[in-house]
Amino acid sequence: MSEDYHLPICTCCYAVRVEPHRRNSPRPTCMTCAEKLARAVKHTIAPLNKSNYMVFTDASMLKQLNPKRTT
Ligand SMILES: [Zn+2]
Repeated sequence: MSEDYHLPICTCCYAVRVEPHRRNSPRPTCMTCAEKLARAVKHTIAPLNKSNYMVFTDASMLKQLNPKRTT
């Protein structure tokens, strides 16, 4: 029994099994897809920063909704 049978299939192209060192990743992919996704990550940084800003806005709104908690 080879350990390769336990390796998950690439969640991007579904054509090949991922490399052993990627098997524990939340979204395992083969090396080719990992490189594609690494480039795509750059485009997701802006939305992530925006959501962080939204969370901060929510916190200040909470203060306005709960004046007793501003001390
Ligand atoms: Zn792939």
